[in-house]
Amino acid sequence: MRVGKGSGRGLTPLLTRRLREALAAPGCPLCRLVRIGEERWLSTLLYELSGDPLTHGELARTGGFCREHARLLAGLVERQALLTPAAVARLYETVVGALLVKPRRLAGPAQGCPACRYREGLVSHHAGVLARFLVGEEGRAAYRSSAGLCLPHFRLVASRASGEVRSWLEADFLARLSDLRRRLGELQRKQRYDVGEPLLPGEVGAWREALWRLGGSWFDGPITPPGEL
Ligand SMILES: [Zn+2]
Ligand SMILES: [Zn+2]
Repeated sequence: MRVGKGSGRGLTPLLTRRLREALAAPGCPLCRLVRIGEERWLSTLLYELSGDPLTHGELARTGGFCREHARLLAGLVERQALLTPAAVARLYETVVGALLVKPRRLAGPAQGCPACRYREGLVSHHAGVLARFLVGEEGRAAYRSSAGLCLPHFRLVASRASGEVRSWLEADFLARLSDLRRRLGELQRKQRYDVGEPLLPGEVGAWREALWRLGGSWFDGPITPPGEL
């Protein structure tokens, strides 16, 4: 199959720019794009929809956000002056009130977190965008010099890609794993007391890379620049 020069079919300049930014940053680019999407969604919800009856109704039904999204929301409020504690209080007064009105909800079953549901759509969208981006040589060059995908997102993007892109992506992923295995070995060997060789930069963090490569990248706090929320 011919490999095009462009950055993939049907990709807008904005999508391509965001993807390139994620590819230039540390860790899995898809984990990062999804996380930024979640932060934008939570910010909009808090800033514009904290008085919206539908939003209140949905959160009351689900009993609020899951731990991960509650923590992310707290991080956004602590960092962004426009996102106020009062807006969270307004939403959660409804959630707490709903539990008091219908105590049988305390017994569960737990309902799905709305932010987790939103994330499913985000993951699928960005996986499709990346699969199209990798059709072109330009996209492949950007991906090659990136940190590459985590295993869960590699599987997803590969499942969304055409046969030729899937083969290319799989070969790239195997090469990354092979290099990672070598660095994991070097990290152990050089840490032995009787080996005096210094660790190279890629070897020092190999253990950490193995954790995110197989499990997915994690972020300690909000990662979207405040001006872009
Ligand atoms: Zn990932
Ligand atoms: Zn959640």
